[in-house]
Amino acid sequence: MTLLSDLPLRDDLRGQVPYGAPQLHVPVALNVNENTHPIPEPVAVDIVRALAQAVQTVNRYPDREFTELRERLAGYLGHGLTANNIWAGNGSNEVLQQVLQAFGGPGRSLLGFVPTYSMYSILASGTGTEWVAGDRDADYRLSPDTAVAWVTRTNPDLVFLCSPNNPTGTPLSLDTIAAVYEASTGIVVVDEAYAEFGPVGTPSALSLLPGRERLLVSRTMSKAFAFAGARVGYLAADPAVTDALRLVRLPYHLSALTQAAANAALAHTDEMLAMVDDIRGQRDRLVQELTRLGYAPHESGSNFVLFGGVADPHATFEALLAEGILIRDIGIPGHLRVTAGTRAETTAFVEALERLGRATGAEAE
Ligand SMILES: *Cc1c(COP(=O)(O)O)cnc(C)c1O
Repeated sequence: MTLLSDLPLRDDLRGQVPYGAPQLHVPVALNVNENTHPIPEPVAVDIVRALAQAVQTVNRYPDREFTELRERLAGYLGHGLTANNIWAGNGSNEVLQQVLQAFGGPGRSLLGFVPTYSMYSILASGTGTEWVAGDRDADYRLSPDTAVAWVTRTNPDLVFLCSPNNPTGTPLSLDTIAAVYEASTGIVVVDEAYAEFGPVGTPSALSLLPGRERLLVSRTMSKAFAFAGARVGYLAADPAVTDALRLVRLPYHLSALTQAAANAALAHTDEMLAMVDDIRGQRDRLVQELTRLGYAPHESGSNFVLFGGVADPHATFEALLAEGILIRDIGIPGHLRVTAGTRAETTAFVEALERLGRATGAEAE
């Protein structure tokens, strides 16, 4: 049998591990922050109709500039943005990889603030970019002073700010984003994958874009839009940034089918986002119930909750899994993360946890 170590693999990839959230078929999957509500039936029918039409011309390459999709995404984001400000890819992970291909690479560095989205360091390693792990303040917050101190000390070529932060759920203020931008000379990416789940009226980093040509705001259709399986992520930035990304993207990277499906979904934005309120409600309910059971949930502006006070995270994870409930052990001592599901899924999780006993390490914090 051939081992990885037998292959002439790049030296900097030796010993690395791939992204690996478990993909298990369980009745209640609350582990990767998906929208657990299926898309509404009438929208699904419309998407299928659009796909049926698109498939008739799949002998031809798709629109390399995905013009209609960029127009629709600009319209959805508002803030005076036009198609020239928008870039899209097969998930925001691909878009972030393209950002690193264009602005990172050997001899360059990416600063992030841990614990944060695990893909950042993996994308850095795949593109030969040095990963610099900055620290956060108490309770995973990130103040302008702390962030700026890291930028000044490490002088990174790129900074990735996750807002709200995954896996902690912590909101990030525009003050910190603006201060990081001022302090740095490189690219600043704000990953707003969960923006739609914040409290109504929460300002987006999109409002900071005018006059900041090194600022990029990343979004995805994977979470609020319930479109994770279709793979559509995007960003908004100065048009010069999208020109830079054209230098590294593969030609025709967004298939005609992906573009057709996304365009059809975006024609039904209100219906696609109809469950967001409900999910926010289940998230708030998780925080209440976890507190009642003696755990220590962290503030969350997203569709998941990180909670502490777990005596043995691995044992609790396994006990829940035995009941068909999959959540996430993200390796923070004493903590687990759970996605807000439908009312029934959230109930199943809370009831299972309660059966495990309130005592499960509630003293630990
Ligand atoms: C889920 C998630 C994404 C989305 O990735 P896609 O490739 O668009 O599915 C991006 N950033 C963060 C922080 C996430 O948690």
